[in-house]
Amino acid sequence: MAHDPVVAETVRDAAHLEPHFVFDAQEAAAAAKLAARDGKRTNVLVVLFDDVGWGDFGCYGGGVAVGAPTPNIDRLAREGMLLTSCYSEPSCTPSRASLMTGRLPMRHGLMRPPMYGEPGGLEGEVTVAELLSAAGYVTQAVGKWHMGENRHSQPQNVGFDDFYGFLSVSDMYTEWRDPYFFPEVVYSEERTRWLENAPFNKCFVHATRGGDIENVEEVTIPVLSELDDKWCAYSQEFIIRMAGEEKPWFLYHCTRGTHFDNYPHPRFLGSSPAKHPYKDTIIELDDIVGRLVATLEVTGQLDDTLIFITSDNGPEMETWPDSAWSPFRSAKGSTWEGGQRVPGVVYWRGMVEAGQASDGLFSLMDLFPTLLHLAGASDAIPSDRYIDAVDQTSFLVGAGADSNRKFLYYWLGSTFSALRVGEWKFMLASTSDDDRDVQNPGGFTGVTQKYTYSRLYNLYLDPLEQHSYMIRKLAYLDAFQQGIGGHLRTFSKYPPKVVVGGVG
Ligand code: CA
Repeated sequence: MAHDPVVAETVRDAAHLEPHFVFDAQEAAAAAKLAARDGKRTNVLVVLFDDVGWGDFGCYGGGVAVGAPTPNIDRLAREGMLLTSCYSEPSCTPSRASLMTGRLPMRHGLMRPPMYGEPGGLEGEVTVAELLSAAGYVTQAVGKWHMGENRHSQPQNVGFDDFYGFLSVSDMYTEWRDPYFFPEVVYSEERTRWLENAPFNKCFVHATRGGDIENVEEVTIPVLSELDDKWCAYSQEFIIRMAGEEKPWFLYHCTRGTHFDNYPHPRFLGSSPAKHPYKDTIIELDDIVGRLVATLEVTGQLDDTLIFITSDNGPEMETWPDSAWSPFRSAKGSTWEGGQRVPGVVYWRGMVEAGQASDGLFSLMDLFPTLLHLAGASDAIPSDRYIDAVDQTSFLVGAGADSNRKFLYYWLGSTFSALRVGEWKFMLASTSDDDRDVQNPGGFTGVTQKYTYSRLYNLYLDPLEQHSYMIRKLAYLDAFQQGIGGHLRTFSKYPPKVVVGGVG
């Protein structure tokens, strides 16, 4: 009988660990495959795009249909596994920190992105990079960081051997330099000088473990247009160097694109059928995936490398049309599906069965215990803090296509928003997206609304979350409330932490 996530029960291995499904056959299959690797290295390449939408790639119904073909990513999806219910957090920093720590923003405390040199970051958290490094991995971060600019939150101080990229977010480096977006700054010497002297780093940087960051180059608009190209070359050099290494490696490659504002590399400018900088950037990112995979292939490392391709949140609609395509309701910043449901393509030749598509729940933070499992380092997961992530090794490698995760918890800052289990999304609060007093309501524009009665959406019948179904489905109410109750009770033993943000 097929597994039903609504009905099936989970197992909690310890008080600090999220309950998970146990599938004996799937787990045995994964264990056998891993054992058969017989001491070969297990490398990991995470490619994390910025603000790319669920629908942008051809394998999700976008690609050619929306003026930006993505043949490289589509091929990986065909020859690997396509996740249709892969979830980020509502915005950049919370997502990235959850991936790094296996913990929800309410635990690691980065509830929204720190901007323009604002203090606060990963400091004090235990990262997957740190634990992989302790397990013998070479750890490399490339591209966008955005998990704190303070020294102790910088990548080379939270587990990475080397970092080449920028510490903040794309728009901060360029928006005030562009006369189209900031004419009142560009055409004012005083304001330009004021921002030039503001205390945030305007350069992309390099750092090695424990060292100081060194500025590589100031990120002007022409420099920015070449960043993804330079960062790709840096990752390719890393992959080539690692071919001769005995140690396994973890490459965390975070692109600049497609966060607003997009200035594609001159080679890609106008290259998309859509002729729009956002779409040109999608073409460039797909090409970068092609380059990284080709480098793995020619260096003989493709069979030994798990590749996970995803995005850190849904489309940013306040900057439309410089934004992604998602078929879902609302956008980045919100807990509607448009804010948190992201592409997830998993490829590992010979290990992740080709041609799979699954709607099983996957949270990006699940990479934390999953990568540690693959590294044989599950025992290193800290026990002094709550881990919200679930080990999904058997889901990805076991070819059974059942997610080990039962519930997905949606948090809107410090407000609990919704629970998903199976096809159901039970919602207690959200951001409004129909405000009449704004022209372009994206996920950051609305107000937090707590519903008098809860709402229920069937994401199979109603993926756009337009028809609340609660009153016809009260038989589920107790199950949803128990799911939420179990989650919220974990906060009494493991209290929330606020580092940046926190207002619901
Ligand atoms: Ca983002």
